[in-house]
Amino acid sequence: MKLTFFGSSHGVPEPNRRCSCILLEVSDKKYLIDVGTDPVPLLIDKGLTPCDVSAVFITHVHGDHTNGLVPFADICSWRFKDADPLIFLPEIEMLDALKGWVKLTCEGLRETLRFKEVKEGLLYDDGTIRVTAAATQHRDRAYAYLIEAEGKRVLFTGDMRGGDGPIADYARFVTEDGLDLAVAECAHFDATLYLEPLKKHPPKLFCINHYSRRWLESCCKLLKEIAPDIPALLATDGLEINL
Ligand SMILES: [Zn+2]
Ligand SMILES: [Zn+2]
Repeated sequence: MKLTFFGSSHGVPEPNRRCSCILLEVSDKKYLIDVGTDPVPLLIDKGLTPCDVSAVFITHVHGDHTNGLVPFADICSWRFKDADPLIFLPEIEMLDALKGWVKLTCEGLRETLRFKEVKEGLLYDDGTIRVTAAATQHRDRAYAYLIEAEGKRVLFTGDMRGGDGPIADYARFVTEDGLDLAVAECAHFDATLYLEPLKKHPPKLFCINHYSRRWLESCCKLLKEIAPDIPALLATDGLEINL
């Protein structure tokens, strides 16, 4: 299993950091987690196209997680007509907006493109990965995803509640040891709030993602305080994690 961070930034892009988008590769299959930036040029840079993408999982409908969906759906409609990703929308109402936009940019959204609304619980199982969605308190219909593949378990927190986010949301999802990787946001709270849930159920690897400058100092403090017990890192664009 391999993760490539196409975008590690929070609501606002920062120098050399685009908004949230992660490419997940498991055996010969590819998936996207959030499309806060246009994933198409980034796929092409890696010798891939949208035809290689099996599914897209969007955590919630804020622009820093969805702004790349229009260009992705647009080019799948007129150029990459063999692309057949199953696109998970946290709010199915997004589909009307998408249809309206792509009607203006090309001949309209390709009818064979597949969309499905996210619901809590087991969401997707293609025999290669298994994805379970859990609601976060970031906003109405915001989700974290637990991905299981090749005997590994990886949590993508999506965005969580501000203030006591890691305790309110993260601690609720991570109730047992054995996570191989947690990709955790840090745009809405002091990162040291992760200390308590991390100590309780340490993952094998902790990756701080979607962090803002405001909380950067707390991210560094957290990294220092959990080391060396929990291997941890700060995501940057282009970072690759092999599990
Ligand atoms: Zn966000
Ligand atoms: Zn958000």
